[in-house]
Amino acid sequence: MSAPLEFVRPDVRAMTAYHVADLPEGFTKLDAMESPYHPFEAQALRQAWQDALAQAPVHLYPNPAASGLQEALRDAFGIPEAAHIALGNGSDELIQFLTMLVAKPGTAMLAVEPSFVMYRHNAALYGLDYIGVPLNDDFTLNLPAVLSAIETHNPAITFIAYPNNPTGVCFSRAEVEAIVRAAKGIVVVDEAYGAFNGDSFLPQAGSIGNLVVMRTVSKIGFAGIRIGYACGHPDLMGELAKILPPYNMNQLSLATAKFAMHHFQVINDTVLALKAERERVFAELSAIDALRAFPSSANFITVRVPDAQALFDALKAEKILIKKLHGAHPLLAQCVRITIGSPEQNDAVLSVIRRLYA
Ligand SMILES: *Cc1c(COP(=O)(O)O)cnc(C)c1O
Repeated sequence: MSAPLEFVRPDVRAMTAYHVADLPEGFTKLDAMESPYHPFEAQALRQAWQDALAQAPVHLYPNPAASGLQEALRDAFGIPEAAHIALGNGSDELIQFLTMLVAKPGTAMLAVEPSFVMYRHNAALYGLDYIGVPLNDDFTLNLPAVLSAIETHNPAITFIAYPNNPTGVCFSRAEVEAIVRAAKGIVVVDEAYGAFNGDSFLPQAGSIGNLVVMRTVSKIGFAGIRIGYACGHPDLMGELAKILPPYNMNQLSLATAKFAMHHFQVINDTVLALKAERERVFAELSAIDALRAFPSSANFITVRVPDAQALFDALKAEKILIKKLHGAHPLLAQCVRITIGSPEQNDAVLSVIRRLYA
């Protein structure tokens, strides 16, 4: 072992890095819930965006609080005045700092399984006991099991993805409300896919002491600018502000996000198009007897197929990349997750699936 590595934490040395698929030329990427659309495709809009970027004060450290982005987010999404908004370099960073906020020996993090892998990863990184409560077979919430785990472990922080990733299913609002009520610790409702869902906890942000509603612009066309935000009670957000790095955001991303919020209609149009495509793809998949497509409130569909590896390989041969979930959790046996793309991309996926299974 080379000398400096001896000083690296043994648990970190035993981890494997989050694998970001590197994409060969010409591949269609339907594995990571990116939008197929560049939000500023139209020439006039692109020019206005470039002008906004040119005016960004890149010679100065960013001041996220004074950037105007919080106000723009408030207006675009109707975030209540009662809520304070924290900005993160992607919501991944907010997951990290919210975990760090409560991390001390003997504390627990609760999440459901399967859910977003970064919750468990951060629990491990910051030394929390991770309590993963399995979902039901149809990926709905097992509320009695969650409430009983809350009772037993008194988690300092609970993460609920609403809708859930990697399953696409959205839990019922009443169930999530019951979790927020039962937990003494922080409950983070992660609405990374909120734009594709009909319901949100944003209206309650700020008025419930232990509720944090977390969102991101990544899934609505801006995965590349790394902007997430968390909305919650001012007392709690005040504590979070103490540990967020002062310059965690960058001027170019702040300027782009602010510009985007001021032109929200074009983004919303792509969201509506993707939702319509999701419904079309879901109907087509549901018509094939050999498959089980799970109802999705997000911009992807999780499907159980006869052989996940075979479908993954067949799509790869057509230069389409999807996510194979098989192996990640027993409930995900023979499942794949397919990001909703443009109509042409979705047709290409469907034609391979029909060739194999229809
Ligand atoms: C994609 C995703 C995130 C991460 O979003 P970023 O803002 O890109 O870091 C967080 N939570 C869930 C459930 C996700 O699927």
